[in-house]
Amino acid sequence: MSSLADHRIHQVEPLSVRTRYPRVVGRNARLGSHGSGFESTAVRVVTDQGATGWGVVEGPLAGAETVVGRPLLDVFDPATGVTAAEALPLDFALHDLAATIADVPVATLLGGAGERSVTCYSGAIYFDDLDPEDTPRGIAAVLVNCAADWAAGYRAFKLKIGRGNRWMEAEAGFARDIEVTRAVREAYPDARILVDANNGFSPAQTVRFLQHVADCDLFWVEEPFQEEEGGLRVLREHLVSSGSRTLIADGEYQPDEAQLLELASAGLIDVMLMDVVSYGLTAWRRIMPVLADLGVAASPHAWGMPLKTLYAAQMAAGLGNVLTVEGVPGTTDAVEATGYVLEDGVITVPDQPGFALPITTPASLT
Ligand SMILES: [Mg+2]
Repeated sequence: MSSLADHRIHQVEPLSVRTRYPRVVGRNARLGSHGSGFESTAVRVVTDQGATGWGVVEGPLAGAETVVGRPLLDVFDPATGVTAAEALPLDFALHDLAATIADVPVATLLGGAGERSVTCYSGAIYFDDLDPEDTPRGIAAVLVNCAADWAAGYRAFKLKIGRGNRWMEAEAGFARDIEVTRAVREAYPDARILVDANNGFSPAQTVRFLQHVADCDLFWVEEPFQEEEGGLRVLREHLVSSGSRTLIADGEYQPDEAQLLELASAGLIDVMLMDVVSYGLTAWRRIMPVLADLGVAASPHAWGMPLKTLYAAQMAAGLGNVLTVEGVPGTTDAVEATGYVLEDGVITVPDQPGFALPITTPASLT
């Protein structure tokens, strides 16, 4: 094993990775069909000593090639993460690289502050009842998908709600949201159920929805509306006065960090959802202790790549304070992810160095 100080960045190579879902994933309150997968960008970093690391990139890779020739420790500090702005697109690749060189799992590099096993819910239960548009399958389709994810090892489901925001007449959509939630609870009395409105509700609708499913023991309500203090106070007041233990999860869509911290300090958000990759591992390392001090948990948003679920599980094991991990069912072409095990609703990270995600025959974009 060499020391990080011995390595200079020799090559930054764009890669393309393909995500495949086990089924077509439909609409949510904001967006149309999510399809059956997609192609996305990743990057591999090679050092002059022949060490490699790779990771997913969201946003432009432009500028990252300027780190070639520089010592690894010029752009990366194992204690904090990426230290040079131009290297931020390499956030996950550099963590993989540094942990691989140090011969430890990324979770260990991050401090090993959490458990190696953490609960993981299926984030893939969309408005499947509404498709196909000419012959909608109805609620049975939602239950079929729950059954598939249960069979894959999930014991928790996040149901998309807010059908009346775009896709159904408001009251009919609202009624369907309730019907779906009740049907899943009835079919899975022991499952953890989360709901996510993708900001498709108003504060009043959120409270009304929660009143209608009060006996469903929802684990959390996610992004009921674009977060703002007044609305969240209405929601919090309802939860407290009704004796509900449902948590408020927010901060996924266009997060404003200062505002979120203010809302969290005011006790209005229980779980922070900034994205695994677009917010970034280095940013999560910086903010996690702040959240822990506030008594606020995290659950980094992982949709829509199975790889992001695995990254989130490493963050849970490494940083701690991650309440649960968002599961994205599916596979990534050419990536060997068998070190990660999902069993009985719990995902466990491997002991192997780095992210332990060997990638073979990558199709280079260059
Ligand atoms: Mg969401």
